[in-house]
Amino acid sequence: MSGILFLISAPSGSGKSTLVNQLRSLVKNLEFSVSYTTRAPRGSEQEAREYHFISSEEFQRMIDGGEFLEHADVFGKYYGTARQALTDAFAKGKDLLLDIDVQGASQVRAKMPDAVTIFLLPPSPDILAMRLRNRSRAEGAVREEDIRRRLARARAEIENYREYDYILVNDILDRAVEEMAAIVAAERMRRNSGPQNADDEELLAKAEQCRLRNSEARVRPVLQAFGVVNAEAAPV
Ligand code: ADP
Ligand code: 5GP
Repeated sequence: MSGILFLISAPSGSGKSTLVNQLRSLVKNLEFSVSYTTRAPRGSEQEAREYHFISSEEFQRMIDGGEFLEHADVFGKYYGTARQALTDAFAKGKDLLLDIDVQGASQVRAKMPDAVTIFLLPPSPDILAMRLRNRSRAEGAVREEDIRRRLARARAEIENYREYDYILVNDILDRAVEEMAAIVAAERMRRNSGPQNADDEELLAKAEQCRLRNSEARVRPVLQAFGVVNAEAAPV
């Protein structure tokens, strides 16, 4: 197995699915793992497109059978990545992208230290709340309790940003998509023959700017707005 495993985590409502959907049409040879979940489908979600929607009993059977690479309880529902997704993608010579929460990312990192990890931040708590509300409205009903729960969890998740290799801020969607595509391209170049021309060098530079250690100026105001670091805190 020689493909690259990419993990992306973000608080719910940050725009991760939107970003990943755009990326899928832009980047070749990158498979997207469809997770299993015990939560109900939302809005226009379809079985086997966004998730495999299964019962708690089926989920437990898969845990018992050792079928998951990782699994976690998120908002009281189970979510998990099947080992098969990895085997299938790598057997086809493709790279694989997993959209998983911080608990899942930490389980996968422990098993596969070469995985490339990306954390996507929403620009601010207010914008996150607005996106969560807009999405709920589009899907039928806004449940303020649910929005509050997701905002509280967002802060707790963001506290783990230092565990990730790259940090993106999903302010302007096109920019976040370009940066994500640059990260995929840069990691592929690093493992293959390196940059071949000026375009490759540009992609490498763009990806480099998103590395945790180079993201301080962009990331600090977001962390402060979420109360994760205060103005006097040490560098990100
Ligand atoms: P997630 O997968 O992280 O839970 P979604 O992709 O469902 O989030 O996005 C949440 C909402 O925010 C959706 O209504 C989506 O259209 C909107 N959205 C995503 N990215 C942006 C962006 N950069 N600017 C404005 N709205 C966005
Ligand atoms: P949502 O219900 O909004 O689609 O997802 C809620 C959270 O579950 C998000 O943080 C998402 O990244 C996470 N998630 C989705 N699939 C998986 C998975 O297979 N494993 C883990 N650990 N988290 C997942």
